[in-house]
Amino acid sequence: MSEFALIEHKKAEKVIEILENKYRNVKYYLNFDGPLQLLVAAILSAQTKDTVVNELTPELFKKYKTVEDFSGADPVSLLNYVKKVSFAESKVNHIINCCKIINKKYNGKIPNDMENLLSLPGIGRKTANTILINAFGIVEGIPVDTWVIKLSYRIGLSKSKKPDEIENDLKEIVAKKYWKNFAYVLKEHGHQICQSIKPECEICPINELCPKNGVN
Ligand code: SF4
Repeated sequence: MSEFALIEHKKAEKVIEILENKYRNVKYYLNFDGPLQLLVAAILSAQTKDTVVNELTPELFKKYKTVEDFSGADPVSLLNYVKKVSFAESKVNHIINCCKIINKKYNGKIPNDMENLLSLPGIGRKTANTILINAFGIVEGIPVDTWVIKLSYRIGLSKSKKPDEIENDLKEIVAKKYWKNFAYVLKEHGHQICQSIKPECEICPINELCPKNGVN
């Protein structure tokens, strides 16, 4: 297998510009109305397709409307609404426990800073960044999901497989104006062209710049 190749800074800037232009209409993919719904949907979406989450949240949010509704929920009843997601039981516990803490410590309001979001059960940096960006318009990082991990490596933007390190590498390369949507741009590129098993390098707009790490 060939050695990992990191893309040169100038080329990386070009790659990012091309992708940002191509997928300029992408937007966050979970449906929500307000910080609470986003927090719940984001917890449910871990290792689960967004379409599955978007299918079940309308009924869920019709029944559970407030932080108190979730904090006081009966786990078995709540599970009935979300059983199609992976790890449903543990996500239900995270949602209930999160909302208990939000009620007690934050007066029923979803925290709008990284440190306090990270203190909540089931919330890692990816979810915290997602909530900050999409619910509060605060952009202090780049959410790193499985597509970001995979494509950052392939394109040579980061040689790490660890989300926190990848985020730091990306923040060095990606202009801040692109942070908000960068994860969704990569995800779209992964869906349309750079698929996991058989990326379509021949039609890829960055094929002359991409080192194609790990692609045969
Ligand atoms: S499709 Fe090929 S050329 Fe394009 S980003 Fe993926 S690996 Fe690189």
